[in-house]
Amino acid sequence: LEEQVRQAQKMEAIGRLAGGIAHDFNNILTVILGSARDLYRSAGGAEARELAQEVLDAGDRAAALTRQLLAFSRQQALRPRELDVNEVVRDLEKMVRRLIGEHIAVTSALAPGRAAVRADPGQLEQVILNLVVNARDAMPGGGRLTLSTALVDGAPGDAQRPPTPGPHVLLTVRDTGRGMSAEVLEHLFEPFFTTKERGKGTGLGLATVYGVVQQSGGAVAVRSAPDAGTTFEIYLPRLPEDEDRAADDEGAASSGER
Ligand code: ADP
Repeated sequence: LEEQVRQAQKMEAIGRLAGGIAHDFNNILTVILGSARDLYRSAGGAEARELAQEVLDAGDRAAALTRQLLAFSRQQALRPRELDVNEVVRDLEKMVRRLIGEHIAVTSALAPGRAAVRADPGQLEQVILNLVVNARDAMPGGGRLTLSTALVDGAPGDAQRPPTPGPHVLLTVRDTGRGMSAEVLEHLFEPFFTTKERGKGTGLGLATVYGVVQQSGGAVAVRSAPDAGTTFEIYLPRLPEDEDRAADDEGAASSGER
């Protein structure tokens, strides 16, 4: 238990540090990107334009990284509201296909009806996209990505929490990729743990997934073995159908108070 507390404190300290740097860095980046855009517009020759474009491209990558750092450190407050997980998945389908490329087939199988939960929509999208990007990176030679939802009873526990009873929405992201060794599985959710080459991975994707899901009162489970693909399961407490509306009103009231 002491080890777990130490680990949690370490994660929190890293998160605060990363968030602080990301915030300041983001301000600097805004200036760099603004100037690069002006430069691109006013550049005389083709070569100058090309160089300005390179600055813009690199800046965009840096901006994406700082967004991820900020999401991870959760300096961006969670704004939970009632939403339908099916709808979130459907809305992301185009972006998922674009992210994943032609060489990977995408299947989705959504639970009939509504899959109502209380969560921050932006953060839930981030969770799904992080899992999708990891799945893509695990299938360089092609494969199949499956996104599915189901209405289930109860969520499994993990090292930090006991199992939770009651209705849940289960969101599954499955790939047929390279899978993971027991060693990787052990460190998976730690911030900055990555097996990707320098510059490719931040090691923040799954730490973010874990943090967001925990804050929403849910649980994450993962099944994987080398060369046997990977399945991520996200469990979120399900809102009963007849309380959907009540939850909506509550959300509106609390955001009105801000
Ligand atoms: P990053 O993607 O930046 O490396 P993550 O926290 O998202 O950071 O993932 C940590 C590590 O977990 C990855 O580097 C990879 O080794 C492993 N991993 C995550 N998802 C998968 C997957 N779907 N298949 C195989 N390995 C995975």
